[in-house]
Amino acid sequence: MRKFEDSYRHKGLRKKLVDIVREKGIRDEKILDAINKIPRHFFLDSAFDEIAYEDKAFPITADQTISQPYTVAYQTQLLEVKPFMRVLEIGTGSAYQASVLAELGAQVFTIERQKKLFDQNKGFEYLRRYPNIKFFYGDGFEGLPTYGPFDRVIITAAAPIVPPKLVEQMKVGGLMVIPVDAGEIQVMKRITKLEGGETKTEVFDNFSFVPMLQGKNE
Ligand code: SAH
Repeated sequence: MRKFEDSYRHKGLRKKLVDIVREKGIRDEKILDAINKIPRHFFLDSAFDEIAYEDKAFPITADQTISQPYTVAYQTQLLEVKPFMRVLEIGTGSAYQASVLAELGAQVFTIERQKKLFDQNKGFEYLRRYPNIKFFYGDGFEGLPTYGPFDRVIITAAAPIVPPKLVEQMKVGGLMVIPVDAGEIQVMKRITKLEGGETKTEVFDNFSFVPMLQGKNE
C-alpha cells in the first residue's frame, strides 16, 4: 500500500535530505531542486513513510531497490542533462530517477525488465505529470534502437560490461553513466562517444547496485 499525501512534515524532511546530499558534494542546484520537489515517499510502500527521506536505498517490488538519493544525484550530475535531451535509462525500478531526469526537462526513455514494476508504474498516478517519460518493458542490454540515437544513457543497475548496443545507440559527443562490475562493488564510469565510434572512459567513485540481468522477467 502506498500513501499519496504530501504533508508539511514530508516537505521539511525533504529539505533536510537536500542539505545532506549537498553536503556530500552535489552542487548542481537544478538537481537539488528536483529532489526538493519530488515526494520520494510516493515511490515507496507506506511502511517507509517515516524513513523515505533518509539518504538510503530501500526495497521496492520484485526484490529490487530505489537508489539512494545521493547516488541518484551523483549519476545525474555526471550525466550533464540539458532540457530536451533524449535520455535512455536502463532500470526504471520505482521511476524516481526517471522523475528527476524529467524535472530537468529531458525526454526520458526508460526500460525495466521486471513486468511487475513496469505494470506498477503504469498505474502510478503521480507520473502522469511527466508526459516526457516513456516507459518500456524489455531488456536494457538491447536498448531502444528505434528511439535512438540518445544524447545521454544512464544505467541504474550493476553492469557486468559496457553494453555495446547501448554505445551504438549514443550520439557522437553523447555521454553514458554506468556502474560497472558484476561483483559486490561497482565503479562509476562515464563514457563519451567520440567520432568514428571510439570512446573515452572516465572513472569515478565506488557504489553498490542490484545486478543488471539479461532478458525479461514475467
Ligand atoms: N532507477 C531505479 C533504480 C532501480 S534498481 C529507481 O530510481 O528506483 C535497478 C533496476 O534495474 C531494477 O528494477 C531491475 O529490475 C532493473 N534491471 C536490471 N537489469 C535490467 C535490464 N537488463 N533491463 C532493464 N532493467 C533492468
